[in-house]
Amino acid sequence: QITIRKEKWVTDEFELLEFLGRGKFGEVKRCKEKSSGRFLAAKFVSIVKEQEKKDVYNEIEIMKSLQHPRLIQLYDVYENPSKKQICLILELINGGELFERVIDENFILTERLCELYTSQICEGLNFMHKMNILHLDLKPENILCLSKDGHRIKIIDFGLARRFNPTQTLKVLFGTPEFVAPEVVSYDKVGYGTDLWSVGVICYVLLSGLSPFMGDNDGETYNNITKAEFDFDDESFDDISDEAKDFINKLLVKDLSKRMTASQCLDHPWLKKSIAPTPEPLAKEKIINTKNLRRFVIRRRWQKAVNALLALKRLGLNF
Ligand code: ATP
Repeated sequence: QITIRKEKWVTDEFELLEFLGRGKFGEVKRCKEKSSGRFLAAKFVSIVKEQEKKDVYNEIEIMKSLQHPRLIQLYDVYENPSKKQICLILELINGGELFERVIDENFILTERLCELYTSQICEGLNFMHKMNILHLDLKPENILCLSKDGHRIKIIDFGLARRFNPTQTLKVLFGTPEFVAPEVVSYDKVGYGTDLWSVGVICYVLLSGLSPFMGDNDGETYNNITKAEFDFDDESFDDISDEAKDFINKLLVKDLSKRMTASQCLDHPWLKKSIAPTPEPLAKEKIINTKNLRRFVIRRRWQKAVNALLALKRLGLNF
């Protein structure tokens, strides 16, 4: 049971350590619990507007009900009204972002590993959807690796997540252009399928390094998404199995009710046959060239830096 603690501030009980990452509303730092010596992550959120407080409370409320090994766990929450800051104490994830890891020059990416990562994303999503929660911001930056050696991943950032009642109409106007579904672009009813579209995009990028709907500007990207037209013509897909292509074809479908559900994804032949990973690729196994993926990650890093600057501007810190 997590209650929001107002009588103490995080520094009373935790030693704050190095910087781990920057989000829209503040920094994430590694921290050590003074009483137990346990390492965790402290995510700070600065509140400027009343709506932002409501949004963080929503994130906290949702995280409380999501206890699953593929989803980041929340341990504690501190609120400091005078400083207008909220601090979420989260499980520490040590392996960094999945896409950053797979582009490392010593990393050997194979289709089998992509299957393994995708199936874990679907497991986490399947649990969320069973709890009637939509993530609504699935993108590569929100998939972290548990450690620097294993292949286990976790879904993070429930900042845009929403409880979903299928009998009611939910519409949203947010998300990250490249990964949002057609119904978000056209401001129509969203649903479980909205998250599955993003899984399709993540999977396409992971296998090829190419972004299926990316245009020269956001307007063009939205246009491409609305048409839901994409192909596997690029040579990056030459060695990719038909099962993988079929998997993506069944997710990047314009009508959200016709997309596979998370549970159907786990039963799809591409993920069903998944064999446990081995440290070295199996004989005859094709290695995926991550040249394009490296370019993709560098471009996203730039985008993130721009977003971080915009976030600082929002706090009134101009450069
Ligand atoms: P965004 O702008 O992406 O919506 P946000 O404000 O919701 O961000 P997060 O995505 O939760 O913030 O965190 C920002 C970054 O901090 C992540 O991309 C990740 O690199 C790092 N990070 C977040 N949580 C953890 C954690 N528990 N352990 C390690 N690193 C983390």
